[in-house]
Amino acid sequence: STMHAVIHDDYKEKFLDGLLASEFDETSCISRLQSHLYRKSSPHKPSSYLISKLRNYEEIHRRCGPNSKAYNKIMTKILHSKNIKVDDASMCKYLIWTPANGLGNQMVSIAATFLYALLTNRTMLVRFRKDKQGLFCEPFRNSTWLLSEKSPFWNQDHVETYQSVIEKEKDNKNSKVDLPSSLFLNLQYQANFHEKFFHCDDSQALLIKVPLLILQSDQYFVPSLFMTPFFNKEVEAMFDEKDTVFHHLGRYLFHPSNSAWRLITNLYQAHLAKADEKIGLQIRVFNPISTPQEVIMNLVSNCTIHNKLLPKVIDMKNSMSTSSDKNKTITKAVLVASLYPEYGENLKTMYMNKPTDTGEVIEVYQPSGEEQQKFNDNKHNMKAWVDMYLLSLSDVLVTTSLSTFGYVAQGLGNLKPWLLYKLTNNETHFPACVREFSMEPCYHAPPKHYCSGKPIKDFASSFIYTRECKDYWPGVKLV
Ligand code: GDP
Repeated sequence: STMHAVIHDDYKEKFLDGLLASEFDETSCISRLQSHLYRKSSPHKPSSYLISKLRNYEEIHRRCGPNSKAYNKIMTKILHSKNIKVDDASMCKYLIWTPANGLGNQMVSIAATFLYALLTNRTMLVRFRKDKQGLFCEPFRNSTWLLSEKSPFWNQDHVETYQSVIEKEKDNKNSKVDLPSSLFLNLQYQANFHEKFFHCDDSQALLIKVPLLILQSDQYFVPSLFMTPFFNKEVEAMFDEKDTVFHHLGRYLFHPSNSAWRLITNLYQAHLAKADEKIGLQIRVFNPISTPQEVIMNLVSNCTIHNKLLPKVIDMKNSMSTSSDKNKTITKAVLVASLYPEYGENLKTMYMNKPTDTGEVIEVYQPSGEEQQKFNDNKHNMKAWVDMYLLSLSDVLVTTSLSTFGYVAQGLGNLKPWLLYKLTNNETHFPACVREFSMEPCYHAPPKHYCSGKPIKDFASSFIYTRECKDYWPGVKLV
């Protein structure tokens, strides 16, 4: 019956076509069940293989995660015995994510780390300090992903580094050395030399034997998993459309907590819900001292007006009366995300009570203006998360080149943004923005070498699913 179909559709939408598990305590995470009311339903469906991997992962996490019987036992063993090896497939193994850089960087790297956990059957734990408490819901049912501050692996000072293990092997004339039970891996923008070969089977053959890995990264290193022969068949099978990896994993992992959700939905109702079109405008200024505000404002209006995202203001004195048919007036709401409140204010003044060449009414709102990036600050991160989420609810998105903050919004929202040129000084640029070709985040620090040591000349011809990014050289992204 129709009624049945409606309920079925609603059920499908609520759980994002099977991406989310249905048995979950509803009150602990309201956004999980309500996000579909605020977002267009995604045309990209998760593959049944990805869904089965996720359900299987949730079982592993429940069996091995912090609330399990196995957890303390295995952690103690890993801590006290130097050379525990992974010897049977069902043994609990861990991957601890540790943060670097801003919240956008952290979110894209959590998604990448989670994919690595899925591929290696490791339980992923996150090291969230107070600055990230209460931002997200728990993503895995009947368990927690939070590493306890009391864990001996909360910091990694006593943990051997991947770098040093490889050096030891070299000193031993490449004969195998005893592997430690835990290992620290640095996959940050400035990775160590050996970590730059993370995409190679030799590296993975070693890492697979170590029960506990601590991984520090600010990078979306997913393309390197597609480049690794060890993983590429599996990861290709998980994603039919290669440019939807963050879209799926991001919507699976990152649910606003109830308090974040209250902020998001209140702002949404007050400033966005009634508009005919919602435009997200992310103005990330990387160098506020050397880049004058006026130059950035010009860039923004050149981009939005030239591409007909926003109308031109008409000079009152010279204009005929504009469309008076009230019923037809189209309202566009512009949500501005920036550290600097001046951008929202300028744009607001520009459009306030002024007729436009299309007759559209433009309303501008900027939820926050923190002036500068703050570290280890919970309220600041909450504002950042609210901004990213609201941007992701836009119909049209404008972001700034190179910004992972924008990547999170575009990926969650299934949006191909207009990319503003990244300004660093007083110069003008035409075009002011270009259209992005995919919603995937860009991997800013891809490997520079093949596993043989030869330099990689051209990603597109060497690896089927990777292309150079539009917004950053030498970044690559999945297509
Ligand atoms: P990226 O540096 O642009 O790649 O993004 P990150 O999120 O990694 O780091 C920038 C950080 O600066 C954010 O996490 C916020 O803390 C802050 N920030 C930058 N732009 C904005 C913004 O538009 N709104 C808010 N609330 N915070 C911002």
